Amino acid sequence: MNILVINCGSSSLKFQLINSDSEEVLAKGLCERIGIDGALTYQKSGCDKEESKPAMPDHKKAIQLVLDALMNDKTGVIKDLKEVGAVGHRVVHGGERFTKSAVLTDDVIKGIEECNDLAPLHNPANLIGINACKELMPSTPMVAVFDTAFHQTMPSKAYTYAIPHEYYDKYKVRRYGFHGTSHAYVSKRTAEILGKKYDELKTIVCHLGNGASICAVNCGKSVDTTMGLTPLEGLAMGTRSGDLDPAIVEFIANKDKLTTAEALNVLNKKSGVLGMSGVSSDFRDIEEAANGGNKLAANALDVYYYRVAKYIGAYMVALGGADAIAFTAGLGENSITARANICKYLEFLGIKIDDAANNCRGKEAVISTADSKVKVLAVPTNEELAIARETLALV
Ligand code: ADP
Repeated sequence: MNILVINCGSSSLKFQLINSDSEEVLAKGLCERIGIDGALTYQKSGCDKEESKPAMPDHKKAIQLVLDALMNDKTGVIKDLKEVGAVGHRVVHGGERFTKSAVLTDDVIKGIEECNDLAPLHNPANLIGINACKELMPSTPMVAVFDTAFHQTMPSKAYTYAIPHEYYDKYKVRRYGFHGTSHAYVSKRTAEILGKKYDELKTIVCHLGNGASICAVNCGKSVDTTMGLTPLEGLAMGTRSGDLDPAIVEFIANKDKLTTAEALNVLNKKSGVLGMSGVSSDFRDIEEAANGGNKLAANALDVYYYRVAKYIGAYMVALGGADAIAFTAGLGENSITARANICKYLEFLGIKIDDAANNCRGKEAVISTADSKVKVLAVPTNEELAIARETLALV
C-alpha cells in the first residue's frame, strides 16, 4: 500500500509518499509560504528536486498541488488517487486522551480540537491539513500520529509540576513531552542494532535537532522526557532557551517593556544557541565560528553540551542505570564533535567513545568502545517511516 505522510504547519507542509511493503520513499517534498506566495519543492526518488512557485492561497490548494505532482505524467509516481491507500498525519499535541495513534473519525478530530489550547500554534495547523485532505480524498482512511502519545506512560512523579494542583485539575497543566515518534523509533532501532529485546533494554535517546529533547526509555516505555507542557522546556536548542528561572520572564518583560507573549517569543525564537552566540541557530555555523576563535560561539556550544550531559546523568538515575545512549536528529546524527564533547562528561561512568567509530555522519553506528559500560550509538531517526508504519497498522 502507498501511504501519504503529511506534516502540516501553519504556512508549510512536508509530505512523503511511502510504499509500505518495501518501505521505500517514492516521492517527497515541501510546500512553503502557504497563504503568502507559495513555493513547492517536489522530488521523485532517484531524480533531481523540482522547484516551482504556483499560487498557494490555502492548505487545500497546497495539498491539491502535491496530489497533482504525485500524479504528474513525467515525474509522478502514481496514476490515480486510488493508489494512495491511507494518509498518516503528524499531530503535535494529543493531550492525555491520545495515548496512541488513532484513525481520524469525527470524534477523534473533535478530540484534537480540544487539545488546541495546549498547542495553539501547532494543532490548529495540523487540523487544517487533516480537513483539507478529507475534502480532497473523502474515502481514503486517515490516521493521526501524535508527538505526545509515546510519553503518556510517564509516571505522575515525572509529569507533575510543583505548582498548585488546581492547574492540573482545571487546565491539565503537566509535562507532556514531544518528539515521541522519534524517541519510539530510535529506542526500538537501538535494541535491534544491539540484538537485544526492546522490552528489556534501558535507553536514553538524545534527539538533538533544531528542537531538542531527551527521553528515558525503560523497556519500551517513556518514563521521563525533557520537554514539558510545550516544547520550550529542557535542553538549550537552536532558538529556544530550554530550562531557566521562570522569574526571568517578568524581569526582562519589565526591563524591556514587553508583554508576556513578547517575552516568551524571545525565549522561543531568539534564544538557545542563536541567542547565546549571536551567530546562527545552525550548529554548523556555530562550530565554524567557535573554531575561528569566536568566544560567544564556543560558550554557546559549552552550555549546550553541558546541559545534554547533565540530563543524561539525571536519566541514568530515572532508569536506575542505562544500557544504551542513542544520538539522533540533525546534530546527533551528524556532529562528531558534539557527540564526543557530550560523552567526555560521562567518562566517570565508564562510558568510552571509540574515536574511529564516532567518525561517521548520518548512519547507524555503535560509537562506544567494546569495554564501554554503556553502549553509545548514532541512530538516524525516521519520523515519516514511523508514521507510515503506525498508519498501516491502524488501517
Ligand atoms: P528539525 O527537524 O528540528 O528542524 P533537524 O533534525 O533537521 O532539525 O536538525 C537540524 C540541525 O542539525 C541544524 O540546525 C544543524 O544545526 C544540525 N546539523 C545538521 N547537520 C550537521 C552537521 N554536519 N554538523 C553539525 N550540525 C549539523
